[in-house]
Amino acid sequence: MAGEALDTNPEHVDVLVVGAGISGIDAGYHIQTSLPDKTYAILEARGCIGGTWDLFRYPGIRSDSDMYTLGFPFRPWSSDTSIADGASIRDYVRDTAREYGIDSKIRLHHRVVGAAWSSDGQRWAVEAQRTDTGETVRMTCSFLFMCSGYYNYENPYEPEFPGTDRFTGRIVHPQFWSDDIDYAGKRVVVIGSGATAVTLVPALARHAGHVTMLQRSPSYVISLPAEDPLARVARRLLSPQHAYSLIRWKNVLLTMLHFQLSRRRPELIKKLIRKGVERQLPGGYDVETHFTPRYNPWDQRLCLVPDADLFEAICEGRASIVTDQVETFTERGLRLASGGELEADVIVTATGLNLLALGGLEIRVDGHELDLSSAMIYRGCMLSGVPNFAFAFGYTNASWTLKCDLTSQYVCRLLAHMEKHGYAAATPQNRDPSLTAQPFVDFSSGYVLRSIDKFPKQGSKRPWRLYQNYALDLVAVKRAPLEDGAMMFSPHTVSRSAAALAAAA
Ligand SMILES: Cc1cc2nc3c(=O)[nH]c(=O)nc-3n(C[C@H](O)[C@H](O)[C@H](O)COP(=O)(O)OP(=O)(O)OC[C@H]3O[C@@H](n4cnc5c(N)ncnc54)[C@H](O)[C@@H]3O)c2cc1C
Repeated sequence: MAGEALDTNPEHVDVLVVGAGISGIDAGYHIQTSLPDKTYAILEARGCIGGTWDLFRYPGIRSDSDMYTLGFPFRPWSSDTSIADGASIRDYVRDTAREYGIDSKIRLHHRVVGAAWSSDGQRWAVEAQRTDTGETVRMTCSFLFMCSGYYNYENPYEPEFPGTDRFTGRIVHPQFWSDDIDYAGKRVVVIGSGATAVTLVPALARHAGHVTMLQRSPSYVISLPAEDPLARVARRLLSPQHAYSLIRWKNVLLTMLHFQLSRRRPELIKKLIRKGVERQLPGGYDVETHFTPRYNPWDQRLCLVPDADLFEAICEGRASIVTDQVETFTERGLRLASGGELEADVIVTATGLNLLALGGLEIRVDGHELDLSSAMIYRGCMLSGVPNFAFAFGYTNASWTLKCDLTSQYVCRLLAHMEKHGYAAATPQNRDPSLTAQPFVDFSSGYVLRSIDKFPKQGSKRPWRLYQNYALDLVAVKRAPLEDGAMMFSPHTVSRSAAALAAAA
């Protein structure tokens, strides 16, 4: 952020939110509802609202958790489908922003590239690059709230397979799917075994000649009804908000129960999942090879398929699974480690995402660059030594929005407390020598293991530990003392006009 002429009077807002996906819209709602006197703006790098649900356009794109928990708690998801397609989720997010006037706070085409905290000015100086004009925009804010998701939008994970240049068909990564990809009647191979692969395979199989899912190792796959039977009944008997809350809580509790049982009785859950899979497939199908992972349930995220669509495509012969490894791409497809060949016209590399912490921002605190990997996470949403800064990062074992919404509530509670007591800054400080650092996310998935060392750490105990448990977090957000000995508050030391000058200097 150095080297250019500085705007000596940049625009100031009380809270600056980065990102206009689900978590950014949720943050906007809470700020304007609980803190109506605070000014806020949302800076979004892309030309539209919706984040993930606008970016991904591959066939079949859908949620893999239920919309009653992925939706905003304040705006009922009113469709009968619990597992929703990408376009419906995108519309829901945009309609929510419009309905609550949050869209008027969003500035599209603003990629935030750096933020510098000044303790003298008691504020952040933020620099954004306009993605449409290339112009640099500077703002200041008292509180910076990162709602920038968790992965790199420009660079997905694309392992270097040998021989790709020889392949005469088309290779596509799902993150860059476009409408001109013609797969009707063609032989398609999808490389991968995660949520994207199990979504793509049945969707492509509706029009392709045949789809093969090529996986190095299997994932746990569970079929659930696309429509929640309770939802229809509840909506007939109760008001939309009451019905929504009821189904939301039912799903929260069932997911927690499933997760806890998986942790305590993994063998039982493995057996149940396997029985579920066997029931959906023809007798004699090799479930052991293709659907029996080597890890325990919830060591990685489970894959959910609505109304058994993946199994149906396999049963009807429109799709098949091969568990093997790519040795090389050839002119006509893939040669496998086992010596087998797969012929293909289109190869989809559903090989995953690259994680990206805090939107790739360069963060400085009083002139020092923040080393994210050595920072400790406070209450799952702030960082040790970083004043007036929060980030939204959802659950890995339940819907993302559940946690992001609690984070927004916590931030608003903290800001209200600061206002009431005349504090200008709130900084989590880890001063407990007995605290040990642990990885942020304890998943064994490749995309986590590849980048987790660049992420901040969680601590071994409260308030530095992540519980991945909605009920515990809900109580903490509403009731935990804000003055807990780990959060340091500083009083105002400068007037607003002096602060603006100090931050810009
Ligand atoms: C294909 C797919 C399916 C998924 N399905 C589910 C599901 O079913 N259930 C579930 O719980 N989770 C799911 N997830 C996780 C999902 O990303 C979250 O559910 C949720 O949509 C994330 O919302 P978000 O607003 O936090 O982040 P995002 O949706 O990623 O939005 C972040 C926004 O911030 C913007 N941004 C990032 N960096 C900057 C910057 N530096 N400056 C300005 N703007 C910036 C981005 O452009 C984007 O618009 C899925 C993820 C993927 C990729």
